[in-house]
Amino acid sequence: MTANAASIKIHLPDGSIKEFPAGSTAHDVAMSISPRLAAAAVVARIQPVTAKPAEHKNHAGPEMEGDAAAEASMYSAEEAGAERLVDLSAPLHEDVSLQLLTEKDAEALKVVRHSAAHVMATAVLELYPETKLGHGPATDAGFFYDFYRPTPFTPEDLKAIEARMAEVVARNEPFVREWEPRDQSLARFKTSNDFMKAHFVERFTKPGDEISFYRNGPFEDFCRGPHVPATGRVKAFRVLSLAGAYWLGDENNPQLQRLYGTAFFSSKEMEQHFARLEEAQRRDHRVLGKQLDLFSIQELAGAGLIFWHPKGAMVRRIMEDWMRDECLRRGYQLVYTPHVARVNLWQTSGHEGFYARNMFTPMELDDADYRMKPMNCPFHVLIYKNTPKSYRDLPVRYAELGNVYRYERSGTMHGLLRVRGFTQDDAHIFCSPNQIEDEVVACIEFAQVVLSTFGFTEFKVELSTWDPNDRKNYAGSDENWAMAIDSLEKALARKAIPHKTIKGEAAFYGPKIDIKLVDVLGRLWQLSTVQFDFNLPARFELEYVGEDGERHQPVMVHRALYGSVERFFGVLIEHYAGAFPLWLAPVQAGIVPISERHQAYADSIQTTLQNAGLRVEVDHRNEKMGAKIRDYTLQKLPYLLIVGDKEAESGSVSLRVRGQGDQGSMPLADFVSRALALVDSKSTSL
Ligand SMILES: [Zn+2]
Ligand SMILES: [Zn+2]
Repeated sequence: MTANAASIKIHLPDGSIKEFPAGSTAHDVAMSISPRLAAAAVVARIQPVTAKPAEHKNHAGPEMEGDAAAEASMYSAEEAGAERLVDLSAPLHEDVSLQLLTEKDAEALKVVRHSAAHVMATAVLELYPETKLGHGPATDAGFFYDFYRPTPFTPEDLKAIEARMAEVVARNEPFVREWEPRDQSLARFKTSNDFMKAHFVERFTKPGDEISFYRNGPFEDFCRGPHVPATGRVKAFRVLSLAGAYWLGDENNPQLQRLYGTAFFSSKEMEQHFARLEEAQRRDHRVLGKQLDLFSIQELAGAGLIFWHPKGAMVRRIMEDWMRDECLRRGYQLVYTPHVARVNLWQTSGHEGFYARNMFTPMELDDADYRMKPMNCPFHVLIYKNTPKSYRDLPVRYAELGNVYRYERSGTMHGLLRVRGFTQDDAHIFCSPNQIEDEVVACIEFAQVVLSTFGFTEFKVELSTWDPNDRKNYAGSDENWAMAIDSLEKALARKAIPHKTIKGEAAFYGPKIDIKLVDVLGRLWQLSTVQFDFNLPARFELEYVGEDGERHQPVMVHRALYGSVERFFGVLIEHYAGAFPLWLAPVQAGIVPISERHQAYADSIQTTLQNAGLRVEVDHRNEKMGAKIRDYTLQKLPYLLIVGDKEAESGSVSLRVRGQGDQGSMPLADFVSRALALVDSKSTSL
C-alpha cells in the first residue's frame, strides 16, 4: 500500500492499521469501526508512531509538587510525541496508535470529572457572574473548582449550583476547543480582573504560544483538555462540600472558596460509591476505637502515638501471643532489643545516609548522639554478629515485636493507620544463598496463614524491584540486585502466586515482596512484606564458616507479617466493624442478672467461665434490663448471658447471640463447651 501524503495511518489495539485522510478525528475512527463504539467512546488515547519519546512531562520545571504539578498538566502545552489523551473531535495529522476509552476506563472517568468541573464553573458564573475562576481539576474521588467571590457560598447556594449544573447538562452543549494568541488572552484576563487565569497563563505558557480554551455555550475556560464531547455526557454528579484556601497558599492573598464535587458514569455507580463511603464511615476504626474504648491518641503526648486501652490491649495480647507461638513453631528465636542506639550504629547500617529524613532527630547525651530506632534490623544483626556462626547454625531466624519510631509529617497521621510509633512483628533471617528460596517460600506461606487466621481470604502480591537508572538511591551491586530479584521471582513461581512487578518501589537495601490484603469492602491494605537485603550483611561484615572451612557472607531477609501491629489492628477493627470473632473479642460474654437477688449466681457463673479461660464481665449496674442489653449490643459483645430465678435454679443461662438474638436457655456447661470450641477453632461464627 502506498501512503499518500494527505493520509495518516491509525494503528488500532487489535494490531490492524487503517488509513484515514489527514485531519480525521478519533470519532471518525470509532464510526468506521461501529456507531455503537462511537457513541460509547469518551476520549481517545494516542501515541505518535514515529516520534521519539519526550524527556520531560512539562516545561515548568521539576521542582513542582501537588497543586502546581496538577495545574501544569492542565495548562501547559502537550508534548508532541508523548502518549496522551485527546478529544474525540481533535483532528489527527500524523500516524498514531489509537485506543478509544469507554466507560470501562478509569482515565475516562477522570475526563468526565474534569468536564463536570467545567459544568460546575458554568453554573457558578451563570448564578454569580461576579465570581473569578481559579482551576478545576479531577481528583481521585471527584473534582473541585477554586472560586474567588467576596461573599461566601451558603449551603443553599451549593444546592442552587447543583440544580443549575443539571440544566447545563440537559442543554448538552458541545465542548469546543478554541485557540487564541497569548497576548490577547492575557490582556483579556487582566482587563476582567481574572487574576488567577492571568497567573496560570503567565506561569504555564510562553510568549508566542497559542492559548487553548474550551467553550460550552457562552462559557469558556483556559484549559488544554481533554473533555467529553458534550455536557450531556456528565450523567451523574453531586456537589459535595466547600473549603477555604488562600490563593497560592499565602495568607496575604485573597481567600478562595474551593467547591468539591464528584461525578460518575451513571447514577447507579454514584449511589454505590456513596453506599460504600457510608459503610466505610460506619466502620471507621477511629470512631469504633472510641465507642468500644479500644485505644486513644492523646493531644498532651503527641500525634501519632497510640495508647492501648484495656480492651484494645487484650486484642493485642492475643495477636502477639499467637504470633510468638507461630514463630517458635516455625524455628524462629525470640529476641528483645533497645529503643534507641548511637548514631554510629545508624551510620554503619546506612540509615543515616538513606533513611535519615524518616527518623526522629538525634538526642545528645554525654557520650554520643542517639536516635530512636526506625527499624529493628541493625539490632538483630548485632546479635547475629555477637558469636561466630557456622553453616550448621543457618538459617538463623530472630523475631521480635519491636517498637519503632518514624518521623511522619504533622498532619499526615491517621488513627492507627499512619502513626509515629508502632510495633513491627519483625524478623530477620540470616542464611546461605542456597537456602534463600526456601526461606522466602516459608515466609510467604506464613503470611498466608496470618491472613487466613484473621479472616482475610483475598490478597494481592507485588514484587517491588529497583530502578537501575536511579543508582544513587540503592545500595548493592548490579549482580546482587539481579540475584535477589531472581530468587524472589522463583519463590513466587514455586507457590504459583500471581503478582505484579513494580519497578522503582524496592527498599534502598534490596527488592521485596509485598502482600496486600483485601478487606470486606474490597479495599487494599499493605501489611505483610518480605524483603531481601545484601546491604546490611556487607556493612556489618557478617560471616559464617562454610562447609569448605572458608568464611562466607550470609544473605539476609527482613519480614513483617502484620506489618505494624497498630495498623493491622486498625484494619481488623474496620474489617469486622468492631464485632470481633469470639477468639479475638476483648470481652466474650456479658452476664446480666435480672435483679439484685440474682447477683450471687451471676458472680458464680463469672468464676466458672473465667476458670474455663473465657473473658466475661458481670453487669452490676442498677439499670433497666432493656438499657443493659442495648449497651452490650453497642459494645458488640459476642454473647449476653441473662440469669434470673429459672437459670439460678437449673444451673443454666439464657443466651443472646450477637446478630442472632435470643436463643433461649441452655445448661451452663453446654455454653462453655460451645464457646471453647469456637475459640479453639478461631471460628468467625458464634
Ligand atoms: Zn478543562
Ligand atoms: Zn529489617
